[in-house]
Amino acid sequence: MSLNIGRIIGIPVRIHYTLWFVLLLIAWSLAEGYMPQHYPTLDRTTDWAIGIVSAIILFVSVFLHELSHSYIAKKNGLPIKRITLFFFGGVSEMGEEPKNPALEVRMAAAGPLTSFLIAIVLGGAWSLTVLVNGPNPGPLTPIIATLWYAALLNGVLGGFNLIPAFPLDGGRVLRGSLWNRSKNLLSATTNATRVSEAISLLMMAVGLFFVVFGDFVNGLWIIFLGWFIRSGAETSLRQTRLTESLAGVRVGDIMTRELLSVSPDATVQQLVSDYFLVHPHGGYPVISNGKLLGVVTMSSVRSIPREKRDFERVSQAMVPFERTITVNPTTSAIDALQIMAKNGVGRLVVMDGDKIAGMVTRGDLMKTMKARQELGMWDLSHS
Ligand SMILES: [Zn+2]
Repeated sequence: MSLNIGRIIGIPVRIHYTLWFVLLLIAWSLAEGYMPQHYPTLDRTTDWAIGIVSAIILFVSVFLHELSHSYIAKKNGLPIKRITLFFFGGVSEMGEEPKNPALEVRMAAAGPLTSFLIAIVLGGAWSLTVLVNGPNPGPLTPIIATLWYAALLNGVLGGFNLIPAFPLDGGRVLRGSLWNRSKNLLSATTNATRVSEAISLLMMAVGLFFVVFGDFVNGLWIIFLGWFIRSGAETSLRQTRLTESLAGVRVGDIMTRELLSVSPDATVQQLVSDYFLVHPHGGYPVISNGKLLGVVTMSSVRSIPREKRDFERVSQAMVPFERTITVNPTTSAIDALQIMAKNGVGRLVVMDGDKIAGMVTRGDLMKTMKARQELGMWDLSHS
């Protein structure tokens, strides 16, 4: 779906396949439609040259737009995992949500402001050229046409992203302002999501109208954008609910303290028959003389062929301590969940200094979230 093109200020940048499609579409529609219609004096080669240059300018514009978001985020200590460039702009994937509403608003607004700034600079260059040379000065006409179109594209890019719907920048500005007023991230997200859903439904209805009444391609684009906004808003709301329902919970509050441990000298077969078939746990710490040697899980057992399980020892099958991912009792539950996701594991060993304090699993975290939601530790309808 996406192609990696390198890193900038330390952030991996990817191009989503829709962007290639739109770049081609821009070059083609300029060369075959817009240019012959507005500048009939130019020849076909020039039309195509302008089309291609404009597509490249659009790409650079989208990139600068996205870079401005990431720059503000990075400067304020928010980690950005990667930037994906879409046709309408991009999405910077944040490792975490902004910590305060002011930062969220600033970060979101940076993109459209950058686009408008580029539009103003290019538009200024355009009007200067036209003022000095007239609107159709022969050899300069291709440059005038390119400047105008590039300014227009950036204006549209900035304007489109200001639509107050997630995951567009305008939606984030809206959420940040609501958040600032209510001091409640969850209610701000919920309300911003409602606005997004209304806008996305409206867009899909308008798109359908276009499709039915003749403008098939543009109608499909609008429907697609509406759908994109809708799914983005839902993802964002889910993420916020998750974060909020675990707010303030520490690993030490929910971890399993009474641990059944396994001896490194037990055979894998003993581990299966005495532990996995008897107890409900999916993994056990391997402990010898009170020292944690590693962790053995169902998947470590699965990697040993059945016929070898009578001879292989737990010490050979386990994930050794050096490769075991550990957290502290004071680690926040949200961080623990992120560490699990990042490393593709379902359980973490909780270490208190060099002593094993317990274990925390994804299941523990989910149970806590569910309980807190059901007990109304926070409540969507009243918040
Ligand atoms: Zn943006």
